[in-house]
Amino acid sequence: MKLLVTGGAGFIGSAVVRLAVARGIEVINLDKLTYAACLENVAAVTQDPLYHFEQADICDRAALADVFARHRPSHVMHLAAESHVDRSIDGPDAFMQTNIMGTFELLQAARAAEVQRFHHVSTDEVFGSLGPTGQFTETSPYDPRSPYAASKAASDHLVRAWGETYGLPVVISNCSNNYGPYHFPEKLIPVVILNALAGRDIPIYGDGANVRDWLYVEDHADALLRVLQEGEIGRSYNIGGENERSNIDLVRDICALLDEKRPKERPYHEQITFVPDRPGHDARYAINPDRMRRELDWRPSVTLAEGLEKTVQWYIDNPAWWQALQDRDGVGKRLGEGTHGA
Ligand code: NAD
Repeated sequence: MKLLVTGGAGFIGSAVVRLAVARGIEVINLDKLTYAACLENVAAVTQDPLYHFEQADICDRAALADVFARHRPSHVMHLAAESHVDRSIDGPDAFMQTNIMGTFELLQAARAAEVQRFHHVSTDEVFGSLGPTGQFTETSPYDPRSPYAASKAASDHLVRAWGETYGLPVVISNCSNNYGPYHFPEKLIPVVILNALAGRDIPIYGDGANVRDWLYVEDHADALLRVLQEGEIGRSYNIGGENERSNIDLVRDICALLDEKRPKERPYHEQITFVPDRPGHDARYAINPDRMRRELDWRPSVTLAEGLEKTVQWYIDNPAWWQALQDRDGVGKRLGEGTHGA
């Protein structure tokens, strides 16, 4: 297998790149290097002869043709995307370009190159919002609510259409919220850890009752390679961590871990501050993982408590990584209140 990974300098893509190279797979990491990218994330494999890097935009047809012609990948795993819901509310343009048109260009390039497998990595947010009960399955209706979720839903539809119409050998996976090492410092869990450590307010949107189903990123990378290699063509797979937690409880868990690891005079939970909610904030996501368990014999290896402990420790041990990212455009600012216009 020769695997082209798009978005391999991002959070999840870099975990896939590290794991694939460690398993002896030749990887081409194609990434535009947007504000969300960090090549430090793949420093562990940069010197490995199995690893190649190409800076390119998935919206650039000529650049894609060139990369496919030079590397001749047999498999594609597509993770490149604009991924931050709050940014999609303030500035949806880049989301439509990269997530929809970029996916279209990549499908065309993969089709021309006759790849053996095209794996599209998507989100459970395409299914909308759940009430207090129930779970998303692979047959849940699409009901995206944010510009980000709508752009990902569109890309899922394109991928399925390229499978049906052109016979491109596609698989899709839809996963729940990821967390773990190298998570960009604008997303909830790193924001909580870094604000807590800095003595700043820890912002919680609304009343904090929104529930997410948390998936440890290294477990996700393992699941993705399983879907890529063993998934049935034309099928989609929901990947979840079986770890539902409300935002407020999650933040309290992180504060308790910091109280143990970095004790100070006042407990960290006293820094929690409730801020106005995100417009259209989905109430609850939960993944039914039966298909991954039954058909691909996959399940997560860590509980949320174990994964959070590793994550908090990683941020404590790696300040150089996150300090360098805190100066990037928009990081540390409240985005997505719906008041900034398009
Ligand atoms: P990320 O924002 O950390 O990384 C995205 C990467 O894509 C960056 O390295 C960026 O430079 C690259 N990129 C963006 N636009 C590009 C373009 N036009 N051409 C080439 N590269 C480009 O994202 P992530 O959290 O690692 O998410 C990866 C994928 O998984 C995305 O498709 C996302 O929708 C999906 N996903 C993420 C989560 C999550 O919890 N993070 C959950 C479900 C699904």
